[in-house]
Amino acid sequence: MDPGLVHRELPSPNWDERALPVTMAVLHYTEMEREAALRRLTDPDAKVSAHYFISEDGEVVRLVDEDKRAWHAGVSYWRGHRDVNSASIGIELDNPGHANGYREFPDAQIEALLPLLADIVRRHDIPRANVVGHSDVAPERKTDPGELFPWARLARCHLCLPRPEKLDLGDPFPNDSSFYLALERFGYDVSAGRKAVEAFQRRWRPERIDGEIDGEVRAILFQLLLDRDSGRTR
Ligand SMILES: [Zn+2]
Repeated sequence: MDPGLVHRELPSPNWDERALPVTMAVLHYTEMEREAALRRLTDPDAKVSAHYFISEDGEVVRLVDEDKRAWHAGVSYWRGHRDVNSASIGIELDNPGHANGYREFPDAQIEALLPLLADIVRRHDIPRANVVGHSDVAPERKTDPGELFPWARLARCHLCLPRPEKLDLGDPFPNDSSFYLALERFGYDVSAGRKAVEAFQRRWRPERIDGEIDGEVRAILFQLLLDRDSGRTR
């Protein structure tokens, strides 16, 4: 990888061996102050880590080598996989999170993330549909990186799927169970029920996160699946 993308090495003892090849990237926020987060991500008793940490001022810290399994996703699910840690690169973004004064991710932080993620996606050939938030893979427990995360900016750089623009507002799913089936096919663990709908909204329609399966939410999911099934995205 391009050595200029990483500014500091801070090896964490919290990793083990992968059981799967890398096919995903999972984005997080730390939900605490910067130094506390770095202490926790390297504390053997905390048993958590990520491959990278990016501070609000754009410093990229490598904690775990990419060929090792970092411990960031916990109990999670995406597109048939339950061992998300084995299948992913985890990136922690310095941000106080919803519990402690959630705020915008500064430009410097996103400008450090974009080239790092581009390098990761290219080297591992990660499909855009597998660049996800922690809330997408653990909807029952997690809300990070949250609705302020600039997914649209990543999408413009082809680093994640874009929010579908042209929606056919015909009603693609006759009832809630057919919506949930489709949501599961897209990747989500739908056993979380409304929480899975909230996670979908947080990612794809962040201006209203209420767990309701409304017409716009149904249309967005339908378009995402159409685009993927047609081969326009993967
Ligand atoms: Zn997280």
